[in-house]
Amino acid sequence: MRLTRFKAAAAAVLLTAGLAACGDAGNDGDSGADVDVQDNAAEEFDTGTRMRELAESGTIKIGVKFDQPGIGFKGATDDMPVGFDPEMGKILAADLGIAPEDITWVETISANREPFLQSGEVDLVIASYSITDERRAVVGQAGPYYVTGQQLLVRSDSDIASLEDVAGTEVCSVTGSTSLENIEAEGATPRGFDTYSECVDQVLNGTVDAMTTDGAILLGYAAEHPDELKVVVDPFSEERYGVGYSLDHPEMCEWIVETIEEAEDDGAWADAFEATLGKSGVETPEPPTADACPAA
Ligand code: GLU
Repeated sequence: MRLTRFKAAAAAVLLTAGLAACGDAGNDGDSGADVDVQDNAAEEFDTGTRMRELAESGTIKIGVKFDQPGIGFKGATDDMPVGFDPEMGKILAADLGIAPEDITWVETISANREPFLQSGEVDLVIASYSITDERRAVVGQAGPYYVTGQQLLVRSDSDIASLEDVAGTEVCSVTGSTSLENIEAEGATPRGFDTYSECVDQVLNGTVDAMTTDGAILLGYAAEHPDELKVVVDPFSEERYGVGYSLDHPEMCEWIVETIEEAEDDGAWADAFEATLGKSGVETPEPPTADACPAA
């Protein structure tokens, strides 16, 4: 799927309206969509592949965000994170014969996604992780499985209404994100934090003028504070979310792409969207076409 600027903006407005109405972006404590866990999965994979090892071990470590409603969220007392990214993780694990309760969920923040993959701290990163050439130079990124675009979150009484208005203002985002680099290029003074939840607090208490990141993330926060916050401006970047894996295991790319394509074909991808971001009432988008994997 490639949204035109108009369609993306219309989707954002719809999503904002829906989220504001429901106040819920897949963050109500339920465990998301059901997945079909494969029987005898290990036999499906060649000996020596990382998929075979993981299937035989019966567990997998997946890095997701814990503070992004609708995308990846885990409250202090929740057993499992919820959101569209954990749903993708459940689909991939199920193909290896691993049930959701056997997944080890690890919190990743934007700045530690590459190091966690390189060190083996996690097997996969599924964490609003935009595909970029710089990242693909040091880790694998299969996909995209979802496409969104950067927008702004401001207080309801803010005068910021267009991208031009950010010049000379202070705008926060997260260190290690594509968003922080992009907003600096627009003439704003960037303020980097470790997490988006810290950044949104700065907007709420007036320390900064706006927060910027992917629209899908901002809408989840706007839904949590519908009277105080709003999402503004048309998406001004294309963020193509990929599944991160280690370059030590290049064979994982084809497996990730094929498993997600199967989920797109059999309805599991749509079920995952509807159980999370789609709870706002936004129409389920057409899934994007994944890039070809590099030769393994
Ligand atoms: N998708 C962007 C990125 O990967 C921003 C969101 C995030 O930081 O997770 O940098």
